[in-house]
Amino acid sequence: MKKEFTCIVCPVSCSLVVDEKDGKLTVSENQCKRGLVFGENEFRNPKRMLTTTVKITGSSVKRLPVISVDEVPKDRLIELAELLYKVTVKSPVHRGDIVAQNIGNTGVDVIATRTIKQENKEI
Ligand code: SF4
Repeated sequence: MKKEFTCIVCPVSCSLVVDEKDGKLTVSENQCKRGLVFGENEFRNPKRMLTTTVKITGSSVKRLPVISVDEVPKDRLIELAELLYKVTVKSPVHRGDIVAQNIGNTGVDVIATRTIKQENKEI
């Protein structure tokens, strides 16, 4: 089975070709080893960082930007974003604070990417 992917590891955006024969993967058209790893992972178990926002109270800012601390399965991104849609945090929040632990039992936490003080003040 042959599949094509665009490598998203760097801005060069190589068009990778991943060929699977008898369980063995061959990646071609990559310009570096990072593309090789990306192609193999993308073929077998594609993952992405999860970035979204959650509701925050106690501040004039209404949404807090968050990110997963590691990649999560690509096919679960919508489900995980929906879980975060139900999360509400209270200010103050500091960048790096855990907003959701082990989101969807992925073993991955989600953290705040921005510090938001209480009462309308942003750091
Ligand atoms: S294969 Fe290497 S050079 Fe090409 S996009 Fe991926 S990381 Fe960049």
